[in-house]
Amino acid sequence: MNALDSLKSVGFDLAQLNDGEIVSQSPIDGQTLGRVPATDAAGVQSVLERSVAAFHQWRRVPAPRRGELVRLFGEAVRRHKPALAELITLEVGKITSEAAGEVQEVIDICDFAVGLSRQLYGLTIASERPGHHMQERWHPYGPVGIITAFNFPMAVWSWNAALALICGNSVVWKPSEKTPLTALALAALLDDVARAFPEAPANLSSVVQGGREVGEWLAADPRLPLISATGSTRMGREVAVTVASRFGRSLLELGGNNAMIVAPTANEDLAVRAITFAAAGTAGQRCTTARRLYVHSSRYDAVVSRLKRAYSSLSVGDPRVTGTLVGPLIDASSFNAMQAALDGARRAGGRVHGGERVDVAGLAGHYVRPAIVELEKPCAVSDQETFAPILYVFRYDTIAEAIAGNNAVSQGLSSSLITTDLMEAELFLSAEGSDCGIANINIGPSGAEIGGAFGGEKETGGGRESGSDAWKAYMRRQTQTVNYSGALPLAQGVKFDVE
Ligand code: NAD
Repeated sequence: MNALDSLKSVGFDLAQLNDGEIVSQSPIDGQTLGRVPATDAAGVQSVLERSVAAFHQWRRVPAPRRGELVRLFGEAVRRHKPALAELITLEVGKITSEAAGEVQEVIDICDFAVGLSRQLYGLTIASERPGHHMQERWHPYGPVGIITAFNFPMAVWSWNAALALICGNSVVWKPSEKTPLTALALAALLDDVARAFPEAPANLSSVVQGGREVGEWLAADPRLPLISATGSTRMGREVAVTVASRFGRSLLELGGNNAMIVAPTANEDLAVRAITFAAAGTAGQRCTTARRLYVHSSRYDAVVSRLKRAYSSLSVGDPRVTGTLVGPLIDASSFNAMQAALDGARRAGGRVHGGERVDVAGLAGHYVRPAIVELEKPCAVSDQETFAPILYVFRYDTIAEAIAGNNAVSQGLSSSLITTDLMEAELFLSAEGSDCGIANINIGPSGAEIGGAFGGEKETGGGRESGSDAWKAYMRRQTQTVNYSGALPLAQGVKFDVE
């Protein structure tokens, strides 16, 4: 039996998904995996109407019961983990281990959300007036619109949906037009669990399919008080303006241009492994991929020559094959963008190692050897995010210079310093250090755990998802004052006596 067959029990059958405008093509070999219909404007309208009705019921269900639904969903994901991982590999081209890791993230955020469903704490606040008390309550917010990128086709939705659901909201998901199938499979699992859950209303979770126009409809609709959008900075800039113009709330998780610093005291073995995974893993298609590397002059030659060796031994190929570490790029435009960036780097005087197409026997996907580009100083292409495995390498002499380089780009997602020098590490983590949402010591910038708040500053959008207190974005805060005194003293001693 094919691993995907296990999903038939919840109504997801690839063989049936063969009609519609949205074509899912596997980056492994360009084959069509399936087709799904795009949701038109009227379809989106009716999904939103039903999602509002679902919200009105779900917000009345006690939060720990909402957590129980998410617990059951997490259990279902555990049972179907191999099938879901296989689908990610087919639709996005992730190697098997990384695809399984992504499904594990879905499971982890469900576990996290279950515990959180008993911990949606507010504050009690001392009132200045006798016989009064004040408190802060967190209420469900409304249907949440979730727009996701192709590269984490399950995890990003789950970070949002697991929290949104325990917070008492319904969810409407617009997946990337490049990954319609993974979305349908995961949504089918949630629907299956919800159908058997007495308090869960119909349409608690919906999927709308299509390109950017469908995302634009969601962003513009006031029935979605929160839009959580993950993707390029270009997309976030458009969504932010639309949502702000109707006074909605947006949670933006946008592009990164993440740097690593290798300090004079760095453990070289650890550094080379951390850099190689962070820069070449997932074929450079993580928002947290290491794209820039600052190496101290005293370690530069040794580190760069070891990196080149590590890069030349990376096995690039079919992500389904054991031992492959680098799968395909998502599509031809991604390959072209990578080649254009490498040309730009050459024009800026960069020395390019790797980056060429790799022919993988019998497979028509876009496979490349990850590239290392040595640059004297940053240039136009190293300042921007190219969603492909290119690592720009610079020399530095002082930690202040390296931190300034880390912070010198318009994005602010993740960052990392490899050092055994405590002073340097603490400086990097201090207010004068990295300006990113994520700062790591002795690990690369990628591979976040769900327990921490995930997101970044500047053109990365400022949003925080997943762990810590990120749940607060999915609720509305209400400050409540109760007078049990029988008198009516006014705040700030104001007198307003009437007969
Ligand atoms: P993309 O911006 O092309 O598309 C992302 C999603 O936004 C898709 O669903 C798309 O249909 C939709 N969209 C596009 N334009 C829109 C608009 N004007 N209004 C509403 N929706 C719109 O991104 P992509 O190529 O799928 O993904 C790669 C990008 O995503 C990279 O920049 C990467 O760094 C970023 N990303 C960021 C994070 C993060 O957490 N910060 C995570 C994953 C990916």
